[in-house]
Amino acid sequence: MSNKLIYMDNNATTRIAPEVVKAMAEVEGSVYGNASSMHAFGRVANSLVEDARKNVADLLDCSPSEITFTSGASEANNTVFSIARALIEKKKGSRIITTTIEHPSIIETVKYLKNHGITVDLAPVDTEGRVKMDELEKLMGSDVVLVSVMTGNNETGTIQDIEKITELAHKYGALMHTDATQAIGKIEVSAKKWAVDYISMSGHKFYGPKGVGVLFTRSTAPFMPYIHGGEQEHGRRAGTYNTVSIYGLGLAAKLAKEGLKEEHDRLWEMRERLRKGIVANVPDVVVNGCQEHCLPGTLDISFPCAEGESILLMLDMYGIAVSTGSACATGSLEPSYVLLACGLDVELAHGSIRFSLGRYNTDEEVDYVIEVLPPIIKRLREISTR
Ligand code: PMP
Repeated sequence: MSNKLIYMDNNATTRIAPEVVKAMAEVEGSVYGNASSMHAFGRVANSLVEDARKNVADLLDCSPSEITFTSGASEANNTVFSIARALIEKKKGSRIITTTIEHPSIIETVKYLKNHGITVDLAPVDTEGRVKMDELEKLMGSDVVLVSVMTGNNETGTIQDIEKITELAHKYGALMHTDATQAIGKIEVSAKKWAVDYISMSGHKFYGPKGVGVLFTRSTAPFMPYIHGGEQEHGRRAGTYNTVSIYGLGLAAKLAKEGLKEEHDRLWEMRERLRKGIVANVPDVVVNGCQEHCLPGTLDISFPCAEGESILLMLDMYGIAVSTGSACATGSLEPSYVLLACGLDVELAHGSIRFSLGRYNTDEEVDYVIEVLPPIIKRLREISTR
């Protein structure tokens, strides 16, 4: 039906920035030494890795020595939870606390740990997806080793008050981790200001390459490796450096820092243009998440009496790429657990669509979506059996 393709699934992954592709291509063929080797080939590769480490440290407002490169945020999250497990096994405490709306790389890790005898409590969220601070405080105790709360949710975009939650965790002597994967490049993420102990992030969510990420670990926080077998990253993470991708991630971090304010404002304006356009042209919609504390490019909307998957497929016929709930849940027709945790009923959680705007979207694309969406919803509601 359409020959133009519109990508509005930037929370699933982003297009790599052309500047990053170019810079990576320039070194891809020539820098092939092992970054751990002491000879000249190794030193050149190592300088790219260290250049990236500095750029990431600048972005996160921390010291380069607090940065560990990983294969992505899933690995970074798993590493933090394995540190907490080791602390519990060493009898430094007996519990982990996280929330009901974390990414599957945490929710599934929690299930695994519970099956292995580790106690994990899940703090609930309110209808906007914000952690209920009083409930979290009720769960706290001196036996908690780790509190893990994501910065911004991948589905609803809701942002948590990480500074306040860190204060609470530290009051009880617990370590604090935040999965900032969706927040990087959209809002300021400061290890120093927030005083967190661990931060996870991933290159492909902010216009860098896929398969490379970062775990920030405060210099005072404990660290036990999750991947063993080599002295890379000062023994913190074994495996030959993915030099060129790490270099690309570093450049993406530099671009993210330089353009942060501008990017934030532009994404928020486009998101609001889309929200207002949909609300004005489609009757009976429910905008999910918190509208005050929200990642600037994320808009999650439920369309009662229309199935999310049907909307996604119809939009795809018009060349528009969006997602229902989390892309990681593709293939399952289960309603979004994030929306259920926010108290939405099953029907609304089933009829949700996540639009996630990014650096390369335009107002014209937003207007095109506002034009084609209303008749799609009208048609689906006409044939709905509900
Ligand atoms: N955490 C969040 C909040 C995410 O959105 C994602 C990606 N969907 C991840 C972690 C996992 O990141 P990666 O793909 O780098 O493993």
